[in-house]
Amino acid sequence: MENNERKNEELEPVNINEEFVKQCVRKTIRDLGGCGCEICYADACALALNALQPRYVTTRRGALLSEVDQTRVADSTGITVEVTKAVMKVMQSPRH
Ligand SMILES: [Zn+2]
Repeated sequence: MENNERKNEELEPVNINEEFVKQCVRKTIRDLGGCGCEICYADACALALNALQPRYVTTRRGALLSEVDQTRVADSTGITVEVTKAVMKVMQSPRH
């Protein structure tokens, strides 16, 4: 924890689509009444992310939230479509 102040200033590549997909999968599972366990959640995230182009940005740790908000505006329709398809696929054949 001693190095936290420095770490917070470090830049790192982050796939902002991944951050948005995770939020979107949680919401879509709730909306569609799907199983919200960690297996189904992770499978739906993986399916959706494989169908989407990654979108990496260089960002400071802690600045992520505003980047995700930008993605929400820019790509939300395409991501929502892929997430819905992924969640429905997992609901049809869950791995448990
Ligand atoms: Zn499940």
